[in-house]
Amino acid sequence: MPAKKPDVIAAIATAPGRGGIGVVRVSGPDLAELARAILGTCPAPRHAAYLDFIDADGSVIDRGIAVHFPSPHSYTGEDVLELQGHGGTAVMQRLLQRCLDLGARLAEPGEFTRRAYLNDKLDLAQAEAVADLIEASTAQAAQSAMRSLCGEFSGHIHALRDKLINLRMYVEACLDFPEEDIDFIAEGGVAEKLATVAGELEAVFSSARQGNLLREGIHIVLIGQPNVGKSSLMNQLAGEEVAIVTPIAGTTRDTIKSEIHIEGVPLHIIDTAGLRETADEVEQQGIARTWRATENAQIALILVDAAHGVTATEKSILARLATVSQQVWVHNKIDLTQSQPQIVEQAGETHIHLSAKTGTGIDLLRSHLLQLAGWQAGGEGVYMARERHLRALAQVRECLQRAADNLKQPELLAEELRLAQESLNEITGEFTSDDLLGEIFSRFCIGK
Ligand code: GDP
Repeated sequence: MPAKKPDVIAAIATAPGRGGIGVVRVSGPDLAELARAILGTCPAPRHAAYLDFIDADGSVIDRGIAVHFPSPHSYTGEDVLELQGHGGTAVMQRLLQRCLDLGARLAEPGEFTRRAYLNDKLDLAQAEAVADLIEASTAQAAQSAMRSLCGEFSGHIHALRDKLINLRMYVEACLDFPEEDIDFIAEGGVAEKLATVAGELEAVFSSARQGNLLREGIHIVLIGQPNVGKSSLMNQLAGEEVAIVTPIAGTTRDTIKSEIHIEGVPLHIIDTAGLRETADEVEQQGIARTWRATENAQIALILVDAAHGVTATEKSILARLATVSQQVWVHNKIDLTQSQPQIVEQAGETHIHLSAKTGTGIDLLRSHLLQLAGWQAGGEGVYMARERHLRALAQVRECLQRAADNLKQPELLAEELRLAQESLNEITGEFTSDDLLGEIFSRFCIGK
């Protein structure tokens, strides 16, 4: 059965609400006729044309810039028409409706990028970077998403894949001469080449993990009694960077979730200050929700008053946080006790003495949190990667390990190399199921 011809899709590509300019974007196999219907002419390829956008009854919806990108020189690889009008809701809706009346249908989230991927304009890792770039909340995250979008991550994956293909060709050729008295595997230096590929994989893995950290951040639960200095600490930690405080949807009595950034790494912090015994049903629900939210936390940050030390309250909360693997005790207000800022490792726990008010010792906490998260200073050359990429890289690592263990059994060795290559291909999307594509693109915004 011949593949179904793609239909024409349209969407408002700019954010909802009012803006100086709004863009309706259309993509499909042939848009010359649609362009003529709306614009009275089909603009010259890739030239901005200042034109009226005309409705079915001949009235003018808006006057703006139209750009026609004929296939294949467009974002999606199909014909693309961009109509840049005034960014008002009514104007944009009318313009979109006009496109729909002319036979386009409303684009699904990420459908433009999905078409770009299907038409080989981008590979899958690059397509994901488009969404990551839009979602980036820090300059560092945006930079690393941009590196992935430009193909830096994919380039490393392709380089690894090419080396694996060479190795596979050699090993598979050896399989054709099983009875020969020569150890082709040893002769061909396969073990050494495998070690080289494994080393390069580790470098890619390390950078991808850093990029993933910029995307996912670290989850922290903050324990501390009222007035111990939680807000002051958050402000100091965030430093120059903006602290965004977002109440969890629900009742105002819910505890607060905040996000701050250190060197561009997002710290998602759940404040457990509201966790206490109560008979109030609404409050109980909020408290239950907070406990559930703490299940994702990797670090418990326990704030105590340096003058009083650890009390039973902190201990009882901590006892319930069985899933949190790391604990950091912060002894605050050392300016009042006149003690020195310091970091003390003791019985598997870290104690940091600081003053949230004066900022003394804050750098100790900042760098300790980044170190726990696995962040390496600078983050130079980091490219954005997702959980699924890290899983695929981990699979490649396992295959290479098993390949190295099976040098004496060329069939098994060849099979492991094949599996390793397949996992690499999953990252860039050479082997990908429709389900996975659906899941990836459904998280995009409409019009992208
Ligand atoms: P929270 O209720 O835990 O969020 O505590 P706040 O951050 O609102 O701080 C409570 C009070 O303690 C405020 O008056 C702060 O100025 C003060 N405070 C916080 N940290 C310090 C500190 O390191 N030294 C001193 N002297 N006061 C502090």
